Amino acid sequence: MRIRVLGTSGGCSAGCPPSAYLVDGRLAVDAGALATALTLEEQSAVEDVLLTHSHLDHVRDLPLMVINGNRSETPLRVHGLPSTLEAVRTHLFNRQIWFEAFTIPVPMIAALPLPAGEERRIGPYRVTGFPMHHTIETQGFLVDDGRGAVFIAGDTDDPDCLAPVVAAAGKRLRAVFLEASFPDDQAEFATHTGHLTPRGLGRAARAVPPGVPVLATHMKPGHEAAIAAEIRALGNPALRPAHPGEVIEV
Ligand SMILES: [Zn+2]
Ligand SMILES: [Zn+2]
Repeated sequence: MRIRVLGTSGGCSAGCPPSAYLVDGRLAVDAGALATALTLEEQSAVEDVLLTHSHLDHVRDLPLMVINGNRSETPLRVHGLPSTLEAVRTHLFNRQIWFEAFTIPVPMIAALPLPAGEERRIGPYRVTGFPMHHTIETQGFLVDDGRGAVFIAGDTDDPDCLAPVVAAAGKRLRAVFLEASFPDDQAEFATHTGHLTPRGLGRAARAVPPGVPVLATHMKPGHEAAIAAEIRALGNPALRPAHPGEVIEV
Protein backbone atom coordinates (compact mmCIF):
# COMPACT_ATOMS: atom_id res chain seq x y z
CA MET A 1 0.00 0.00 0.00
CA ARG A 2 1.02 3.53 -0.71
CA ILE A 3 -0.27 6.01 1.86
CA ARG A 4 -0.06 9.61 0.83
CA VAL A 5 -0.34 12.04 3.73
CA LEU A 6 -2.46 14.95 2.51
CA GLY A 7 -3.04 16.78 5.76
CA THR A 8 -2.07 16.29 9.39
CA SER A 9 -3.27 19.40 11.16
CA GLY A 10 -5.95 19.62 13.81
CA GLY A 11 -6.64 23.07 12.39
CA CYS A 12 -5.35 24.78 9.28
CA SER A 13 -2.61 27.18 8.26
CA ALA A 14 -0.40 27.69 5.19
CA GLY A 15 1.42 24.41 4.55
CA CYS A 16 -0.48 22.63 7.34
CA PRO A 17 -3.81 21.44 5.92
CA PRO A 18 -6.29 19.44 8.02
CA SER A 19 -6.60 15.65 8.29
CA ALA A 20 -6.70 13.57 5.13
CA TYR A 21 -4.88 10.46 3.86
CA LEU A 22 -4.99 8.71 0.51
CA VAL A 23 -4.39 4.98 0.05
CA ASP A 24 -3.20 3.90 -3.40
CA GLY A 25 -4.79 6.95 -4.96
CA ARG A 26 -8.34 5.64 -4.58
CA LEU A 27 -9.31 5.23 -0.91
CA ALA A 28 -9.34 8.34 1.27
CA VAL A 29 -9.42 8.49 5.04
CA ASP A 30 -10.92 11.78 6.19
CA ALA A 31 -11.54 14.70 3.89
CA GLY A 32 -10.01 17.72 5.60
CA ALA A 33 -7.63 18.42 2.71
CA LEU A 34 -9.03 16.11 0.04
CA ALA A 35 -9.70 18.87 -2.49
CA THR A 36 -6.93 21.22 -1.31
CA ALA A 37 -4.14 18.67 -1.78
CA LEU A 38 -5.29 16.85 -4.92
CA THR A 39 -5.52 17.84 -8.57
CA LEU A 40 -8.88 17.45 -10.30
CA GLU A 41 -7.66 14.26 -11.90
CA GLU A 42 -6.53 12.87 -8.55
CA GLN A 43 -9.84 13.84 -6.96
CA SER A 44 -11.74 12.01 -9.70
CA ALA A 45 -9.76 8.85 -8.98
CA VAL A 46 -11.01 8.75 -5.38
CA GLU A 47 -13.78 6.17 -5.19
CA ASP A 48 -14.31 5.75 -1.44
CA VAL A 49 -13.93 8.08 1.53
CA LEU A 50 -13.81 6.83 5.13
CA LEU A 51 -14.77 9.47 7.68
CA THR A 52 -13.48 9.01 11.23
CA HIS A 53 -16.00 11.52 12.62
CA SER A 54 -17.88 14.63 11.64
CA HIS A 55 -15.67 17.40 13.07
CA LEU A 56 -14.89 20.07 10.52
CA ASP A 57 -11.15 19.45 10.25
CA HIS A 58 -11.98 15.91 9.03
CA VAL A 59 -14.80 16.67 6.59
CA ARG A 60 -13.99 20.19 5.41
CA ASP A 61 -13.21 19.46 1.75
CA LEU A 62 -15.93 16.90 1.12
CA PRO A 63 -18.53 19.43 -0.13
CA LEU A 64 -16.01 21.07 -2.45
CA MET A 65 -14.58 17.82 -3.72
CA VAL A 66 -17.90 16.21 -4.62
CA ILE A 67 -18.67 18.75 -7.34
CA ASN A 68 -15.40 17.93 -9.08
CA GLY A 69 -15.49 14.98 -11.44
CA ASN A 70 -18.66 13.36 -12.64
CA ARG A 71 -20.25 11.98 -9.49
CA SER A 72 -23.72 11.78 -11.05
CA GLU A 73 -22.79 8.63 -12.94
CA THR A 74 -20.82 7.02 -10.15
CA PRO A 75 -21.51 8.52 -6.72
CA LEU A 76 -18.67 9.02 -4.28
CA ARG A 77 -18.98 6.28 -1.67
CA VAL A 78 -18.67 7.74 1.82
CA HIS A 79 -18.33 5.32 4.74
CA GLY A 80 -18.61 6.20 8.40
CA LEU A 81 -20.56 5.73 11.59
CA PRO A 82 -24.30 6.31 11.13
CA SER A 83 -24.04 9.39 13.37
CA THR A 84 -21.13 10.76 11.32
CA LEU A 85 -22.96 10.40 8.02
CA GLU A 86 -26.12 11.89 9.48
CA ALA A 87 -24.23 14.90 10.85
CA VAL A 88 -22.53 15.55 7.52
CA ARG A 89 -25.77 15.20 5.59
CA THR A 90 -27.74 17.40 7.99
CA HIS A 91 -25.22 20.14 8.66
CA LEU A 92 -23.16 20.41 5.47
CA PHE A 93 -25.30 19.11 2.60
CA ASN A 94 -28.45 20.86 3.77
CA ARG A 95 -29.06 23.32 0.93
CA GLN A 96 -28.00 26.29 3.10
CA ILE A 97 -24.31 25.34 3.42
CA TRP A 98 -24.05 23.23 0.26
CA PHE A 99 -26.32 21.39 -2.13
CA GLU A 100 -28.04 18.13 -1.12
CA ALA A 101 -25.51 15.72 -2.62
CA PHE A 102 -26.96 12.79 -0.64
CA THR A 103 -30.35 13.10 -2.30
CA ILE A 104 -30.35 15.48 -5.27
CA PRO A 105 -32.26 13.90 -8.20
CA VAL A 106 -29.32 11.57 -8.73
CA PRO A 107 -27.26 11.29 -5.52
CA MET A 108 -23.61 12.28 -5.89
CA ILE A 109 -22.76 10.74 -2.53
CA ALA A 110 -23.62 7.17 -1.59
CA ALA A 111 -23.70 7.07 2.21
CA LEU A 112 -22.62 3.67 3.51
CA PRO A 113 -22.95 3.34 7.30
CA LEU A 114 -20.06 1.41 8.83
CA PRO A 115 -20.74 0.65 12.49
CA ALA A 116 -17.64 0.39 14.69
CA GLY A 117 -16.28 -3.13 14.88
CA GLU A 118 -17.64 -4.11 11.50
CA GLU A 119 -15.44 -5.17 8.66
CA ARG A 120 -16.09 -4.11 5.09
CA ARG A 121 -14.50 -5.15 1.84
CA ILE A 122 -13.67 -2.09 -0.25
CA GLY A 123 -11.89 -3.02 -3.47
CA PRO A 124 -8.77 -4.97 -2.47
CA TYR A 125 -8.95 -3.82 1.17
CA ARG A 126 -10.55 -5.14 4.30
CA VAL A 127 -11.51 -2.09 6.35
CA THR A 128 -12.42 -2.35 10.03
CA GLY A 129 -13.65 0.51 12.17
CA PHE A 130 -12.44 0.70 15.77
CA PRO A 131 -14.39 2.90 18.23
CA MET A 132 -12.30 5.70 19.70
CA HIS A 133 -13.13 7.84 22.72
CA HIS A 134 -13.54 11.51 21.73
CA THR A 135 -16.09 14.27 22.32
CA ILE A 136 -18.41 12.72 19.74
CA GLU A 137 -18.74 9.23 18.27
CA THR A 138 -15.48 8.55 16.45
CA GLN A 139 -13.67 5.62 14.93
CA GLY A 140 -10.28 4.75 13.51
CA PHE A 141 -9.78 2.53 10.49
CA LEU A 142 -7.60 -0.49 10.00
CA VAL A 143 -6.98 -0.84 6.27
CA ASP A 144 -5.63 -4.28 5.38
CA ASP A 145 -4.74 -5.42 1.88
CA GLY A 146 -3.95 -8.97 2.99
CA ARG A 147 -0.20 -8.40 3.02
CA GLY A 148 -0.01 -5.44 5.35
CA ALA A 149 -2.28 -3.23 7.43
CA VAL A 150 -2.25 0.42 8.39
CA PHE A 151 -4.23 1.98 11.20
CA ILE A 152 -5.38 5.57 10.80
CA ALA A 153 -6.91 6.74 14.03
CA GLY A 154 -9.65 9.27 14.56
CA ASP A 155 -9.29 11.91 17.25
CA THR A 156 -9.09 10.48 20.74
CA ASP A 157 -7.95 11.11 24.31
CA ASP A 158 -7.51 7.41 25.07
CA PRO A 159 -3.84 6.34 25.44
CA ASP A 160 -4.91 2.68 25.51
CA CYS A 161 -6.65 2.83 22.14
CA LEU A 162 -4.11 0.82 20.15
CA ALA A 163 -4.20 -2.50 22.03
CA PRO A 164 -7.31 -3.84 20.22
CA VAL A 165 -5.90 -2.70 16.88
CA VAL A 166 -2.61 -4.49 17.47
CA ALA A 167 -4.50 -7.62 18.55
CA ALA A 168 -6.60 -7.56 15.37
CA ALA A 169 -3.83 -6.76 12.91
CA GLY A 170 -1.24 -9.13 14.36
CA LYS A 171 1.96 -9.29 12.37
CA ARG A 172 0.45 -7.48 9.39
CA LEU A 173 0.52 -4.08 11.14
CA ARG A 174 2.92 -1.85 9.19
CA ALA A 175 2.19 1.70 10.39
CA VAL A 176 -0.02 3.67 12.76
CA PHE A 177 -1.20 7.26 12.53
CA LEU A 178 -2.32 8.63 15.91
CA GLU A 179 -2.85 12.11 17.16
CA ALA A 180 -0.85 14.32 19.50
CA SER A 181 -2.84 17.55 19.36
CA PHE A 182 -1.32 19.67 22.12
CA PRO A 183 1.97 19.86 24.04
CA ASP A 184 2.14 18.11 27.40
CA ASP A 185 1.72 21.32 29.38
CA GLN A 186 -1.76 21.57 27.89
CA ALA A 187 -2.74 18.03 28.88
CA GLU A 188 -5.73 19.18 30.89
CA PHE A 189 -7.16 21.15 27.97
CA ALA A 190 -6.33 18.27 25.62
CA THR A 191 -8.33 15.84 27.75
CA HIS A 192 -11.16 18.33 28.04
CA THR A 193 -11.37 18.53 24.25
CA GLY A 194 -10.89 14.79 23.67
CA HIS A 195 -7.27 14.81 22.56
CA LEU A 196 -3.87 13.32 23.36
CA THR A 197 -0.52 14.98 24.01
CA PRO A 198 2.89 13.41 23.26
CA ARG A 199 2.87 11.70 26.66
CA GLY A 200 -0.37 9.89 25.79
CA LEU A 201 0.90 9.11 22.31
CA GLY A 202 4.03 7.61 23.82
CA ARG A 203 1.97 5.43 26.14
CA ALA A 204 -0.23 4.32 23.26
CA ALA A 205 2.82 3.46 21.16
CA ARG A 206 4.00 0.95 23.76
CA ALA A 207 1.28 -1.43 22.54
CA VAL A 208 2.74 -1.41 19.03
CA PRO A 209 5.31 -4.06 18.07
CA PRO A 210 8.91 -2.80 17.74
CA GLY A 211 9.80 -1.51 14.30
CA VAL A 212 6.27 -0.43 13.39
CA PRO A 213 6.29 3.35 12.90
CA VAL A 214 3.81 5.41 14.89
CA LEU A 215 3.29 8.73 13.16
CA ALA A 216 1.97 11.67 15.13
CA THR A 217 -0.81 13.70 13.55
CA HIS A 218 -3.42 16.34 14.26
CA MET A 219 -1.02 18.87 15.77
CA LYS A 220 -2.82 22.11 16.53
CA PRO A 221 -1.41 25.08 14.57
CA GLY A 222 1.47 26.81 16.31
CA HIS A 223 2.31 23.82 18.51
CA GLU A 224 4.05 21.66 15.87
CA ALA A 225 7.62 22.40 17.00
CA ALA A 226 6.89 21.91 20.71
CA ILE A 227 5.05 18.66 20.04
CA ALA A 228 7.87 17.38 17.80
CA ALA A 229 10.44 18.15 20.52
CA GLU A 230 8.39 16.34 23.15
CA ILE A 231 8.00 13.33 20.85
CA ARG A 232 11.78 13.23 20.32
CA ALA A 233 12.32 13.43 24.07
CA LEU A 234 10.28 10.24 24.55
CA GLY A 235 13.22 8.36 23.06
CA ASN A 236 11.10 5.90 21.08
CA PRO A 237 12.68 5.57 17.60
CA ALA A 238 9.35 4.40 16.12
CA LEU A 239 7.70 7.72 16.97
CA ARG A 240 7.83 10.81 14.78
CA PRO A 241 5.46 13.47 13.41
CA ALA A 242 3.84 12.84 10.03
CA HIS A 243 4.25 15.56 7.44
CA PRO A 244 1.80 16.69 4.76
CA GLY A 245 2.96 15.57 1.34
CA GLU A 246 4.96 12.56 2.50
CA VAL A 247 4.32 9.10 1.11
CA ILE A 248 4.67 5.92 3.13
CA GLU A 249 5.01 2.60 1.34
CA VAL A 250 4.12 -0.47 3.35
ZN1 LIG B 1 -9.86 16.83 14.58
ZN1 LIG C 1 -12.52 15.76 16.57
